[in-house]
Amino acid sequence: MIRLGRTGLPADLAEKLTQKTDELTRIAADGETARSEWKSAGTCRKGVREQLDLMAAGINRCMYRGDSMGTDIDHFEPLFLAPLRAFSWPNHLLACSHCNSHEERETFPRDSGGDPLLIDPTSDEPTEHLRLAPSTGEYQGMTPQGRETIEVFGLNRTSLTLGRRAAFVNTKNILRSYLRQCEEGLVDQASETATAFGYHPFADVRETMLWIRGHIEPEPARIVLGGRDIVRALDLLSPP
Ligand SMILES: [Zn+2]
Repeated sequence: MIRLGRTGLPADLAEKLTQKTDELTRIAADGETARSEWKSAGTCRKGVREQLDLMAAGINRCMYRGDSMGTDIDHFEPLFLAPLRAFSWPNHLLACSHCNSHEERETFPRDSGGDPLLIDPTSDEPTEHLRLAPSTGEYQGMTPQGRETIEVFGLNRTSLTLGRRAAFVNTKNILRSYLRQCEEGLVDQASETATAFGYHPFADVRETMLWIRGHIEPEPARIVLGGRDIVRALDLLSPP
């Protein structure tokens, strides 16, 4: 899971969402009503989906797992718990059908103070709660929020850890190729490599290796590159 920036909304969409929220508030909608209103609001859903696609990593990847395509608009705080947040933009995320499935999202743990124990990648900093070991592909929860997120979204399922391990191997090879292309002045090839890399699934593996965010050092990338120009490698984080 990586940190994602939330975009602002076009004024007309923001207004529509506000109107819908006002409507739900006026009728004191329950979860079932909110779901029904949400499902019938095609224009709002289309607009929200377009904005979420702009925010997601790579090719519209699920914002929780980062591997499969995001197919659904997920309500971070589920509708059965927060029906009045059905049209609330900060409550919308892009998720794969697994993460958005009824079964998974019946679970919304909170701490004793009532704060969510799941990580919202658009408002929380995932690296404060989760550590990823790229060589094993496994996440470790550093906080109760991190541990609950791993559990609820199944972040350490075998299919995901295997995928992250493969992404780690691919990332090492791509880094080496990219730096060689830069060093040899192969500008077009380097640009092609960077673009393709931006579409790779498991952006969390890429960021764990490369991104210097706060206290996290890009040690894996430093080791792979053997003292070569790590600053150049950071160019690869630019979105395509
Ligand atoms: Zn997912």
